[in-house]
Amino acid sequence: MKCEHKTANIWNPEMECIDREELKKIQSERLKKTVKRVYENVPLYRARMDEKGVKPEDIRGVDDLKYLPFTDKPDLREGFPYGLFAVPKHDIIRIQGSSGTTGMPIVTGYTKNDIGVWTEMAARSVTMAGGTADDIVQICYGYGLFTGGLGLHQGATEVGAMVIPMSSGNTQRQINMMQAMGSTILCCTPSYAMLIGETIRDMGIDPGKLKLKAGIFGAEPWSENMRARIEELLGIDALDIYGLTEMAGPGVSCECLYKNGMHVNEDHVIPEIINPETLEVLPYGESGELVLSTITKEGTPLLRYRTHDLCRLNVEKCECGRTNVRMDRIKGRSDDMLIIRGVNVFPSQIETVLMEIPNASPHFMIVVDRVGPTDSMQLQVEVNDEIFADTVGQMQTYKKMIAEKVKSTLGLSADIKLVPPKSIPRFEGKARRVLDNRKL
Ligand code: AMP
Ligand code: ZN
Repeated sequence: MKCEHKTANIWNPEMECIDREELKKIQSERLKKTVKRVYENVPLYRARMDEKGVKPEDIRGVDDLKYLPFTDKPDLREGFPYGLFAVPKHDIIRIQGSSGTTGMPIVTGYTKNDIGVWTEMAARSVTMAGGTADDIVQICYGYGLFTGGLGLHQGATEVGAMVIPMSSGNTQRQINMMQAMGSTILCCTPSYAMLIGETIRDMGIDPGKLKLKAGIFGAEPWSENMRARIEELLGIDALDIYGLTEMAGPGVSCECLYKNGMHVNEDHVIPEIINPETLEVLPYGESGELVLSTITKEGTPLLRYRTHDLCRLNVEKCECGRTNVRMDRIKGRSDDMLIIRGVNVFPSQIETVLMEIPNASPHFMIVVDRVGPTDSMQLQVEVNDEIFADTVGQMQTYKKMIAEKVKSTLGLSADIKLVPPKSIPRFEGKARRVLDNRKL
């Protein structure tokens, strides 16, 4: 783990280190304007607010946010394609989108100013990872409708870094470019970072000879243990970045080199944590579902958008000097959580368990099925050659150890199946770790 560059700059100290009372004033002004704009231009908001009996003038500041109605992904799906746009199409200069998990796309529109705001948030993120005009940033997030590639591209360009717009895929070529160009910052999903790291090792390349110093990894859940693995494989500081298409893309929040939560760009996005069942707003420090409101977005502003991502907010000032709230690592989603035999299971929990087991890899697949009335869970775990060459007895002991760990952590018995190295599919984008056959 390299930490020499911890003295990294702050891209926009005025906003990132702002006095919190001052921030609240700015947020309140921006919120009021947004509420007025959506009430006047987006039928959905007008209808929802009228239904609740809330008028734009009732919202006098951030403290009144709680009176506004929630929005959610189905609103975007139903409004597809232009239903939630708050400006004429003439003012929109870009569309980004996400396929989501259920097939129907959602799209968001950006005005010139929106692209500027997103670029600013991504530039802050690149700077948090120590990025400057002297850096060479290799971007292996997908380019296109998906926000990962273009988002980091704009941010790194703004910082003045040299950008290598690789997009995802062709891992050997990624590594060849990384070596030839001397890339210093890598941007991709954490699962792809793992694959790049493993491939580097398999190619017999000494990671110490690479110029990489940091990685900006996000777009899917990962764990502290996975961070440690990636840092070890690549000899870098691995940082978490969070974002979603609905809010702009990557850069809603990002970790600084202190790696203690992701700084939310609160001058553009206001975070709240709610209890996903009761919808009650929870105080800082409590875990729940993250709800976000855009306060500068013009194209498709979203108020109280339910992300379904579970996390916690920490308002303490960070060692880096930034004063904005930090989000903990995302623990899972309130809606894709698996319920197996009545037990809530997050794939990230399985990953955490596996990373604690010697010789297990973070490559796994959860296969859920229903045998008669009972759910069954099979956990396919990829192991290294060493384990695979063991005797049947040794493999049984190893399986038992995993089963016991899963049981003690999740309170759930799983049938463990050890599979040979490289047999679980690798993903260049987001990893898919669950095969839920119960729905078939
Ligand atoms: P998309 O709009 O398709 O990029 O998906 C956004 C979703 O990806 C978020 O709502 C999260 O569920 C997930 N996501 C993005 N970044 C992270 C991250 N750093 N950790 C965990 N999940 C993430
Ligand atoms: Zn910090």
